[in-house]
This record gives sequence, C-alpha cells and structure tokens, in this order.
Amino acid sequence: MDGPAASGKGSLARRMAQKLGYAHLDTGLIYRAVGVKLIEAGGDLARAPEIAAALAPEDLARADLRSAEAGSAASRVAVIPEVRAALLDWQRRFAHRPPYGAAGAVLDGRDIGTVVCPEAPAKIFVVADPMVRAERRWRELRETDPSADLKTILEDLLLRDARDSARAAAPLKQADDALLLDTTNLTIDEAVAQALSFAAPRLSGGPEASDPVV
Ligand code: C5P
Repeated sequence: MDGPAASGKGSLARRMAQKLGYAHLDTGLIYRAVGVKLIEAGGDLARAPEIAAALAPEDLARADLRSAEAGSAASRVAVIPEVRAALLDWQRRFAHRPPYGAAGAVLDGRDIGTVVCPEAPAKIFVVADPMVRAERRWRELRETDPSADLKTILEDLLLRDARDSARAAAPLKQADDALLLDTTNLTIDEAVAQALSFAAPRLSGGPEASDPVV
C-alpha cells in the first residue's frame, strides 16, 4: 500500500492486516527512525547510510517518531539511495517471512508496489485531497501538541509530497497494477471495505482475481 503523507494508508493498512490476520509494517517508521537518529548524531547526511544499516527493531518503538520534525527528517534521508538500499532487505524479509507466523503481510509506504514488493498480489495506491490530509494530520498531532498549526502542516505535507515524488531513488508513484483509492470522501470503514473487495480475491487467487472490483 503506497500513497502520500496522511492519505489514510497507515490506518487502512493496519485495519486490513487485522481483518486478514496479517502482519503490518509501517515502512515510514523506518525512515523516521533513521531521520531522528541522524539528528541526534549531529545531522550530517553523509552518516545516514551507516545509521540505516545499524537500525535495530527497538528503534521503531521510539515514542518520538510521529512528530512533524521526524517526518521531515525522514523525507530528507529517504532521497539517499544508500539509505534505501540498506533498508530494502529488512522490508523484503518482513514481507516474505512475516513475524509471529502470520500468513501474510501488509506494508505501507511510498515504493512498496514499485520497488520493495513489485510481485505483491494486491497493490493499492491511496490518495486524498491535500487539505483533507492536512486536517487529518492536524487532528492527530493536536492530541500531543496543542500548538500544531494547520497551515504549517499543509505546507509541510506539500513539501514532502514534492520531495518524495521528485526524487530519483524510488519516487512516490502508483504501480501500473495498483488500485487507485481516493479516501477524500470516505470513512475509514468505507475505505477498508473497498480495499478488501479489491485485495481479497487477489490474495486467495480465486477465479475473479483479475476482475476490477472497484
Ligand atoms: O509515511 P510517513 O509519512 O511516515 O513517511 C515519512 C517519510 O519517509 C516520507 O515522507 C518519505 O520520504 C519516507 N518514506 C519513503 N519510503 C517509504 C516510506 C516512507 O521514502 N516506503
């Protein structure tokens, strides 16, 4: 599952994984962890590949990864090909051998359908109107940071979208065989229902696997 920041892909991926009994990996957290650790190490981008290569599972459990600063730091380290290469095996291992014996995995990010798992049987590209995305992120951030400002959040999202889409290494891009799911006017339940009706036949390999469902 891929899509721009705050498109709803994270909640959707989590809910899909729950419904399917699959493991879920929010790959944005990996880049956020590298970004935050880099800031702590002094912020020299040249050190980002080495930090990515040494990332440990417990780094993903940090409480400070959801902040706007972490998101922005993530998108700066994410343009570096050596950082992406260092994180690729980890993501693929999760996809092919999900933890806890789960029967499958849902990964969400920017390049899952195009680079990390091009062979995935079901790919979904999630989009939403930028203002709606900014409002969603603002509501989330406001819970921990009452000073969160909608206009700043919108500017940050647009900047990150531009950086994620324009970079040479694994840019944000819809895979040719991905369902385009616009969540602008959908509740989370509606989005989950549409995503599942697309994915379920493809995952079971049923006879209707190639039929467009949505
Ligand atoms: O999804 P989230 O907003 O947490 O991602 C933070 C940043 O990490 C993104 O803006 C993007 O630059 C980077 N990222 C990426 N590839 C992924 C997931 C995240 O480049 N698969």
